[in-house]
Amino acid sequence: MPVVKIGILNGCMIYKQIKYFIVTILLIGITPVFYFWGLYHTELNAIQYQRQNTAKHQLNFSQKEIYSIASELGTSLKLLSDNRMLLQFIQDPSTKNRALLESLWSLTATNYSYISQIRFIGIDGKEISRLDEQNSQIRITSIHQLQDKSQRDYFLYAQALEADELGFFGIDLEVEHGEVVLPPSPSLRIFTPVEVGDERKGYLFFNLNIYEIVSQLEDSLEGGDIVEFVNEEGYYLASKDTNKTLGHLISERKKYNLSIENPKLWESIKSQNSGVYSDKESAYSFIKVEFDGDFASRSFYLILSSPNTLTVTNLDHKLTFIIYESIMAMIVIIFISVLIARYIAKHRTTSLESQLALAALNGMSAIVITDKNNRIIKVNEEFTRLSGWEEHEVLGLLPSIFKSGKHKKSFYSSMWETIQADGLWEGEITNKRKDGTLLTEILRIQAICNYDGKMEYFIASFVDITARKELENCLRELSEKDMLTQCWNRRKFESEFLAIVDEERTKSNVGKSCLAIVDIDHFKRINDEYGHDVGDKVITQVGRILNSESRESDFVSRIGGEEFAIIFPNTTLKEADVILNRLRVAINLYDGAKITISGGLTDICTNSESSYKRADLALYESKTSGRNQISCFTSAEMEQIA
Ligand code: GH3
Ligand code: MG
Ligand code: MG
Repeated sequence: MPVVKIGILNGCMIYKQIKYFIVTILLIGITPVFYFWGLYHTELNAIQYQRQNTAKHQLNFSQKEIYSIASELGTSLKLLSDNRMLLQFIQDPSTKNRALLESLWSLTATNYSYISQIRFIGIDGKEISRLDEQNSQIRITSIHQLQDKSQRDYFLYAQALEADELGFFGIDLEVEHGEVVLPPSPSLRIFTPVEVGDERKGYLFFNLNIYEIVSQLEDSLEGGDIVEFVNEEGYYLASKDTNKTLGHLISERKKYNLSIENPKLWESIKSQNSGVYSDKESAYSFIKVEFDGDFASRSFYLILSSPNTLTVTNLDHKLTFIIYESIMAMIVIIFISVLIARYIAKHRTTSLESQLALAALNGMSAIVITDKNNRIIKVNEEFTRLSGWEEHEVLGLLPSIFKSGKHKKSFYSSMWETIQADGLWEGEITNKRKDGTLLTEILRIQAICNYDGKMEYFIASFVDITARKELENCLRELSEKDMLTQCWNRRKFESEFLAIVDEERTKSNVGKSCLAIVDIDHFKRINDEYGHDVGDKVITQVGRILNSESRESDFVSRIGGEEFAIIFPNTTLKEADVILNRLRVAINLYDGAKITISGGLTDICTNSESSYKRADLALYESKTSGRNQISCFTSAEMEQIA
């Protein structure tokens, strides 16, 4: 039988704790979660609004920058077209004038890093003078390398310009000697007619390096925005990714079109001239850049984009603080939830345990609970009802106050040995009530141990079987007693006699018990003289005297009509002889010596039949020797005869 332990935290308890934790965290965590979520999004929107504003400003700034570059270059172009050195060169294209012109152009190209080419093209479309600038290196094209540009569309367009008008063409590819320059180099051209008097002499061209302009714009922006120029059809004119540009001119790059890549952004751009657009990855701001006035009308879109995701590096302080605060709050909430869950689970278990314990305590059984020193600490109502003891009368006392004296010391020591070994004892016990009456119980004592296995409490529960026991005893007596004399009957004698013989067998010191058979002398005469009823009364009286005059421990039984057997347990032959003679005399004295008995006595040995036979022979001896006497036939005498 396993020993019961107190406060077991089983799997069910852990499951309950998890359940309560989830419920608690949902209840107390929901408000803070919404609060911080709201706070976070408000701040995020504020940041995005601020970013969009910044982007708008930057876009306006970039637009102005472009206009300023354009106007600056337009002014420079006009100044150079009206310049005296050019006019001199036109009138006298001598080497000296050419050198003077070229040095002036060198100065201009060096001054504006994004001018990649300055040219003077004659009205027939042939280059007359040309200067290239690349990586701060000035290169003058020799006369015989000058090309014919009469078929290039920008030249055709230039021819349509009025005097003093500025032309704008591009952005398109550089073509040299009829071949596209590789790697493809996007170029923007501005130009103006050169006239002397009213006669058109040619055209002055600036080729502008778009990469330079883009990089200058990007340098002027904060926050690492990406600058892109997109034409009216959605193709990239300029982009950080140079491989995407000029899809309208280079067939392999046709797929790089904003209307394909980001249709929604493109839709937004087309529907408004300037604005902002945001998707999951990026935030865009865009503006339409139109050249008019001096320039023939040309337009494209300037787009700034920046990644939309917030990374640790671009989180602002307030947002970081909100995140930090919400993490701290969640840790606190989790901690509180764990505590609450544990408390509720424990409280519920304890209250359930208490309810169960209370229900068990007030059940059918009487209960006495003692502490480790076996002092009473609790009894229930059933105990009070059965024993008559109130709780306050027995608290702190030892259960030994209930002892009835019906059990030997060895009974109690064996009981405690069992409890110490197994933690449990069950059995029948007779205790006494407060009023001293006996209370027979079926008792169960259960030890309750702590975690170390030490016995902390003992729970004794019992049910009252006194009434049942009495009925049992009564029925047993009825089946074992002789109705006439109230002595034990023959059946009971036989079982008792066999038990004594068995006991003798196991005893080392044999012959400690004795058997006597007693018979009324000349009983037939009594029957004959006084009738059967009187005979019965005589038998009854003899039985009563045998019972009352023998010792408590002696076993008197009626084994036949007027024959009795007496077992003297733990008695020597001598003692038994004395007792038997005392009985004989007592019967003789009754009713004026009219009734006498004869008896045969022997010691009980390990054989029941021979023991009985010896007693019977001894009785026969008494009868034949004149009656009213006791004869003894010992086992030793029998052995001698044998
Ligand atoms: P003895 O001295 O040799 O014993 O002579 P006795 O007459 O007593 O002889 P015995 O013991 O053999 O006689 C027993 C008689 O007891 C026989 C029977 O009629 C009578 N008896 C047996 N049982 C009862 C009984 O229950 N009631 C009465 N009234 N008589 C009984
Ligand atoms: Mg007889
Ligand atoms: Mg007789």
